[in-house]
Amino acid sequence: MADSSFDLVVIGGGVAGLTAAALAARAGARVFLAEHHNVPGGCASFFQRDGYRFDVGATVVNGFGPRGIHRRVFETLGASVAARPLDPAMLVHLPGMQIARYGDARWRSERIAAFGERYEPFWEAQERIADRVWDFAARLPALPADLVSCLHLARIFRPRDLTLLRHQGRALARLLPGDASAELRAFIDLQLLITAQASACETDLAFGAAALDIAREGTFHLEGGIATIATALARAIRRFGGTISYRTDVTRIRADGGTFAGIDLSDGRSIAARGAVAAIPYENVLQLLGKTPPPTARAGQRWSAVTAYVGIAAGHIPDDFPLHHQVLLDQRAPLGDANSLFISLSAPEERGRARNGGRAITISTHADPQRWEQAYRAGNASELQRTYARKMLEGLERATGKHIAPSIFELGTPRTFERYTLRYRGLVGGTPQSIASANLRARSHRSEIKGLTLCGDTIFPGQSTVGVTLSAINAVRPFGVNFSALSASASGAAGRPVSDSASALALRATIP
Ligand SMILES: Cc1cc2nc3c(=O)[nH]c(=O)nc-3n(C[C@H](O)[C@H](O)[C@H](O)COP(=O)(O)OP(=O)(O)OC[C@H]3O[C@@H](n4cnc5c(N)ncnc54)[C@H](O)[C@@H]3O)c2cc1C
Repeated sequence: MADSSFDLVVIGGGVAGLTAAALAARAGARVFLAEHHNVPGGCASFFQRDGYRFDVGATVVNGFGPRGIHRRVFETLGASVAARPLDPAMLVHLPGMQIARYGDARWRSERIAAFGERYEPFWEAQERIADRVWDFAARLPALPADLVSCLHLARIFRPRDLTLLRHQGRALARLLPGDASAELRAFIDLQLLITAQASACETDLAFGAAALDIAREGTFHLEGGIATIATALARAIRRFGGTISYRTDVTRIRADGGTFAGIDLSDGRSIAARGAVAAIPYENVLQLLGKTPPPTARAGQRWSAVTAYVGIAAGHIPDDFPLHHQVLLDQRAPLGDANSLFISLSAPEERGRARNGGRAITISTHADPQRWEQAYRAGNASELQRTYARKMLEGLERATGKHIAPSIFELGTPRTFERYTLRYRGLVGGTPQSIASANLRARSHRSEIKGLTLCGDTIFPGQSTVGVTLSAINAVRPFGVNFSALSASASGAAGRPVSDSASALALRATIP
């Protein structure tokens, strides 16, 4: 017998699903969220091991600046976290070269010192376009525009946004002078790999301009690591009367005549509701609907990740050492696959994250999922693990300038991501933001099933906790959860449940 005491079911408790569920619960909906793992956060979650608390994947926190989307959601929910600005956002280590990504006026001198004055027209154009993108994004666009999203877009569109249309169908590389140096190209590709999952030749120009701008828009440190976003959202869901069921897999999405009917769970329960938000990768949605995901068209088009979790003792790292580092080991070798690495350390003041004043470090690298699948099939995955582990520790040595013997070391592979997040083939990081898949060509939050919407990093605008938060706001809008109206009312009602309010009734009435 199906439990039908819910208005909205949310599949997946990553940042996308948690945000969707929290906003709907804040608006008065009776929300049920099913999450596979035993803690919230998905790719932006944490785990504890032997006195260390590690971020599992995502580490860099954005979205807490004055117009930042996490800040706005948290204010709407009456939730608060302590966000400390980080400047520089990160240090980038190219062979023989180190570049600090400052967010303030120091960035201009830094880039001129690194690459020369002749690229200033490129950087100035990038910043101008990024300013336009941030300005547009702050009005919470929903793309690509279908009939209903068009009405929303018409409301938020301003004539100044027209300049962004000019860049459609162009790659970021078009902004670069044809004779740009190898160092500049390597630097841009390296930065875009973590923020757009694609190179300058592939990345959509407007998306890429903003992706290169996250230091200027503001990078932050959260006490407890990035998973603090997820744990705060989970608390808000419960505070507004929502239900979170951990260790619970959704095994099927049921539709009746093209309309959402309910979900089946791994514990045998069925939940009926008026609507659903699937906050899991698009390929996983297809599977839950009984369909087969299309084969990835090109190898390397979608990424997985390999992560190393390194606990080190106190005394190795000075207190003022930057918390984030991007390292390129060999400029002639392709990016990813342990040649390019991202390294994040817990802050010295975070006593709860590393025993006896040590540091908890997460190192990640993009990984070709096919290479790992082949290695597992051929039985030589442990050899590949050893190669990655060696290069990841080499990267740590490059970043810190010293050899540090870890107190503990664990490796996560694409299989680890598949196991802990159920993500199809362990693919992470969302859809690469290429000309063929970004913005107007992105996947919409609308599905072909009435009453089922989608969010997460395979849906517009794509990856990052910031990106999936916008996708979550878009995914609950069709259910009458109007974020702008909620945030306007938050100034007067922050933190108070509104389950019997007029907005709750509106939500129940408008769920399709
Ligand atoms: C190594 C790595 C580094 C990254 N670095 C950064 C960074 O520094 N900054 C940043 O902002 N972003 C970063 N990202 C990207 C960011 O983590 C993701 O884009 C974002 O967290 C995705 O959120 P999501 O909710 O869409 O998906 P997920 O985080 O994947 O959440 C989906 C959730 O759904 C659950 N689930 C799946 N299927 C089911 C099912 N059938 N039933 C129940 N539950 C289910 C999973 O357990 C999971 O918790 C990184 C990602 C990785 C992998």
